[in-house]
Amino acid sequence: MKPEYPFNPMPETEKFNLLNLNRAALEVFFQSNGEKSFRARQLMQWVHQRGVTDFDQMTDMSKTLRQFLNQHCCIELPRVITAQKSSDGTRKWLLSVDDSDNAVECVLIPEKSRMTLCVSSQVGCTLNCSFCSTAKQGFNRNLTTAEIIAQLHLVHHSLLAEGSSGVSNVVMMGMGEPLLNFDAVIAAVDMMCDDYAYALSKRRVTISTAGVVPAMRQLEQVTDVALAVSLHAPNDRLRNQLVPINRKYPISELLQACHSYIDGYKSRKITFEYVMLDGINDSLEHARQLVSLIGDIPCKLNLIPFNPYPHAIYQCSEQDAIDRFRDYTSGKGIITLTRRARGDDIDAACGQLVGAFHDRSRRSEKYQLSLKDIEGVSLAH
Ligand code: SAH
Repeated sequence: MKPEYPFNPMPETEKFNLLNLNRAALEVFFQSNGEKSFRARQLMQWVHQRGVTDFDQMTDMSKTLRQFLNQHCCIELPRVITAQKSSDGTRKWLLSVDDSDNAVECVLIPEKSRMTLCVSSQVGCTLNCSFCSTAKQGFNRNLTTAEIIAQLHLVHHSLLAEGSSGVSNVVMMGMGEPLLNFDAVIAAVDMMCDDYAYALSKRRVTISTAGVVPAMRQLEQVTDVALAVSLHAPNDRLRNQLVPINRKYPISELLQACHSYIDGYKSRKITFEYVMLDGINDSLEHARQLVSLIGDIPCKLNLIPFNPYPHAIYQCSEQDAIDRFRDYTSGKGIITLTRRARGDDIDAACGQLVGAFHDRSRRSEKYQLSLKDIEGVSLAH
């Protein structure tokens, strides 16, 4: 019997991008349209595992179903504006996400044993960290789930087409604050880890936050992917300057949320990120304060040499200062890595991602808005 499609959730004029739906949502979608829920798994395998975006090529779907999908839905990926490759192998894609000049960047960092993709979650950022160039661009909008997962789709399938292994790790450390785009990020992360999509282990997917404490509390309810926290300062006075969201959620609350996130997971560790700013946060005294702050949390510490950009008010710490800091913290038992700057010849290093977009808003207004949002309901998942 031919299936019937009594329910049309799509607006008449616009096709609905099925990349927005994770498996649970796709199952509801198919069931609401008179199909069995296993269609969701089939569709995900076509799209995410085989890289097929044309419904007509999905040969295990009935003709009627394919017609229905063609009529109402699409699998739409962002357009690649530029693809660049650094002398060290790092690659960066600038992706157009809509018709109004909004663009975001994602960066692939190839290493011997892994291919790490750094994914953006917002067009711009509201948090205004004083050392970050994305912040200088202001904020335009959240990315949709489709726009987030599409970054992985595009890069993974480009790699496979080149005969290389695909993406093995994802870090949500591109443009934006992932926890201020909570639902879209969680649905995308869900797909990253789904056996019928990219099947990445939860340890290979990292969400990085500047410290949106209520959302961190929410996060532990819905997922246990790896968590990185951009700490950058060992006391509130300094952190208030570098990471202004600290004025709302001070270090003590942030660290409580970190404890709580890994509580009950034996081998879990928080990754603390700490950008090395010359003469600002890089002294031995800062290292001492840091050890006393995080010494009792199962963690790794990533020291990130500051990546400069035009008009930046900071400089990177001297190599000696970075080494001294690292020797001190590792001597106190904290696993400490100094991150190598990757891809700086194509502005692909941390904090250099700017994409391109119109800041249609005054940032101060948006900042107020985001602080209001994160206080409660809008983050409920
Ligand atoms: N908003 C999230 C994720 C994006 S930033 C967060 O704050 O964690 C990814 C990492 O790069 C963060 O640790 C951020 O603080 C760091 N970063 C930003 N600008 C940088 C710069 N110019 N040099 C080095 N690291 C930078």
